[in-house]
Amino acid sequence: MKRDTFIAHAGRHPAEQRGAVNPPVYRASTIVQPSLDALEHARRTPFEGVRYGRLGTPTTQALEEAVAGLEGGWRSISMPSGLAAITATLLAFVEAGDHLLMTDGVYLPTRRFCDGALARLGVETTYYDPTVGAGIAALIRPNTRLVFVESPSSMTFEMQDVPAIAAAAHAADAVVVMDNTWGTPLFFKPFEHGVDVSLQAATKYLVGHSDAMLGLITTTEPHWQRLKVTVTGLGQAPGSEEAWLGLRGLRTLSVRLERHQRNGLEVATWLEGRPEVARVLHPALPSHPGHHIWRRDFLGAPGLFGVELKPAPKPALAAMLDGLDLFAMGYSWGGFESLVVPGDGSITRTAGDWRTDGPYLRLHVGLEDPADLIADLEAGLARLVKGCG
Ligand SMILES: *Cc1c(COP(=O)(O)O)cnc(C)c1O
Repeated sequence: MKRDTFIAHAGRHPAEQRGAVNPPVYRASTIVQPSLDALEHARRTPFEGVRYGRLGTPTTQALEEAVAGLEGGWRSISMPSGLAAITATLLAFVEAGDHLLMTDGVYLPTRRFCDGALARLGVETTYYDPTVGAGIAALIRPNTRLVFVESPSSMTFEMQDVPAIAAAAHAADAVVVMDNTWGTPLFFKPFEHGVDVSLQAATKYLVGHSDAMLGLITTTEPHWQRLKVTVTGLGQAPGSEEAWLGLRGLRTLSVRLERHQRNGLEVATWLEGRPEVARVLHPALPSHPGHHIWRRDFLGAPGLFGVELKPAPKPALAAMLDGLDLFAMGYSWGGFESLVVPGDGSITRTAGDWRTDGPYLRLHVGLEDPADLIADLEAGLARLVKGCG
């Protein structure tokens, strides 16, 4: 079955739901068993079927079935948020005395979890330059248990050579975990590039409408049991309503991403030609330092990228951003609407050489007409220039 056909049909079993096209939102805590035999069978096979709301409902399981297939993994587990997916995965694969290699370009709350909870539990984290590639081998220690990649980096968009990093990690028996939120299962196939556990903030493109929090973790077969046991033990489970919104978003993921890609490239290309702009960090633009990796490994690019402006005083930047009509200022991304967020102070780096001279912005280009978005930015840049006096 081709990808888009799969997306339209995955996780749906109309005959089991009285012919309704979509699985309903099952609101359930307990699931009653018809006999002692069934109850005992349920006890013996804790991860099969439906037995208690916290362990999954038919709605969350439909989502997991669809996403596992789309990612090309063995199975998926749904979580109440992207960050919950990340922290549960880390807890599943490291223990006291272990060492973990974390990309320096990681999503900031992931970094905080490593420096906080994991450090307290006796797990040591080393941050590595996201562009290290095969050079990661030199950082691996005898107790390195896990290597975490996120490509491109959150905020700064460095591309990682995931296959080279995965090969070095596997040579040392370490688990390779990837935050694949930017690529989504459509634009990056983690399991074809050596990743063992792929997770995504489904809050972003999968849900796609800025109206629900959701995370998903997908693994290869050997890693599934350990992850499932950990997640079950942590008591983490999304509500069925959220899982249902994830399924609804999934049906249009492919058409939305195609448009995010087209609009994003149009806006990024326009920005690149502007005198107020120092550089645009969009992996699909040939000017991006990691463009060759994007071309080699990715099947597309969504609407999220970075822009460094030429140096400008804060009031000029405020005039630019405060007056925007279509780009709302806010965190998150992946919904149908355009967003902008300044990077000031939020970029923590300890490896590599990330540096900007002027204000840095992250743009999410939504599904609006790009001509309107460009006009909004053009007026904003005019306010910026005016503010520079
Ligand atoms: C937003 C985001 C997360 C966290 O997802 P939530 O659902 O907000 O918890 C994780 N990783 C990346 C790359 C993100 O952008």
